[in-house]
Amino acid sequence: MSRPPRHLADLELAERRQAVAELGEREFRADQLSRHYFGRYTDSPEDMTDLPAAVRSALASELLPTLLTSERELACDNGATRKMLWRLHDGALVESVLMKYPDRVTMCVSSQAGCGMGCPFCATGQAGLTRNLSTAEIVAQVVAGERLLAARGERVSNIVFMGMGEPLANYRSVVAAVRRLTDPVPGGLGISQRSVTVSTVGLVPAINRLAAEGLSVRLAVSLHAPDDEARDELVPVNRRWKIAEVLAAAWDYGAATGRRVSIEYALIRDVNDQPWRADLLGSLLAGHLVHVNLIPLNPTPGSKWTASRPGVQEEFVRRVAAHGVAVTVRDTRGREIDGACGQLAARAVPASTARAGDVTPPDGATALPLA
Ligand code: SAH
Ligand code: SF4
Repeated sequence: MSRPPRHLADLELAERRQAVAELGEREFRADQLSRHYFGRYTDSPEDMTDLPAAVRSALASELLPTLLTSERELACDNGATRKMLWRLHDGALVESVLMKYPDRVTMCVSSQAGCGMGCPFCATGQAGLTRNLSTAEIVAQVVAGERLLAARGERVSNIVFMGMGEPLANYRSVVAAVRRLTDPVPGGLGISQRSVTVSTVGLVPAINRLAAEGLSVRLAVSLHAPDDEARDELVPVNRRWKIAEVLAAAWDYGAATGRRVSIEYALIRDVNDQPWRADLLGSLLAGHLVHVNLIPLNPTPGSKWTASRPGVQEEFVRRVAAHGVAVTVRDTRGREIDGACGQLAARAVPASTARAGDVTPPDGATALPLA
């Protein structure tokens, strides 16, 4: 585990100009490099024909180091879902998922290698935290997605921080990444802030800080239980910040940004799916600008928990909706390629000893040749 090399995407445009000047080149070269990276999704010197050849390779090696190496790609849903497992410079593994819908393309990115929050139903949580990702390591996941789509004339329209890691535990890098993803070219990728969702387990001080950033990204809160007794078990950080505090911070965030807050709730059979918990959830959320996403639990290997029975799930939806709260059940996109949080990386052997090809494709998945 070590710090990744400095990359152009770690820097604001003014800092890139300064870095280029320090390398003895004219400042406008920073804008040229940025247009290649953020506008054409390339970091290969050969593609940069508007720069003199010697300058290209010098600047690219200093400011566009390779951050992600493809370890594995898996596709399912007839190619509409594609999961990418990346090896970082120090061997740590992270994953991203690209999901195509009729009206949008959503990219799910990781913010940390592993996660230190220890939620017992989550594959990433079981492995613990390896390290925070740098801003550029987060951005590079989306650039890789854009590169793949560009060949077909498509673009990433939505980004969700729902891959590995707790984004608000890597606050500075995540907020800088949001700015890089949403600043217009050449500053960044030019994706709409309103199309970005930051999902958190409920780190209250960080939610408050995010509300003051002046961003209009959507906040998703992973609640998973309406009562502290159950949430203390499912989301251990609840022992620090209770449900009432988390929801108060979420409503403040909604008020500051004008955005509807999402509440994520993984339905786990006989653990948090009882009718009384649906009623309690509905009454906690009633009257607020909110949308509930119910996620059928994707059981992790060796877990004693599983998804709710279908009838139980429908009853849960009905009871929450009866409080006038918007509620939908998340589609189970990518399930056969372990689309949920950390499940592909969890299959890989430990990062320090892994070699290309060590990841076993789950049943029903197609292993794609490496790019
Ligand atoms: N750490 C952040 C974001 C990454 S997790 C968070 O927890 O919000 C993204 C979402 O996937 C969260 O809502 C999380 O609770 C959910 N999740 C994790 N493991 C899951 C599983 N096995 N089945 C269903 N949802 C899961
Ligand atoms: Fe971390 Fe989110 Fe998984 Fe909890 S659910 S362990 S916060 S990644």
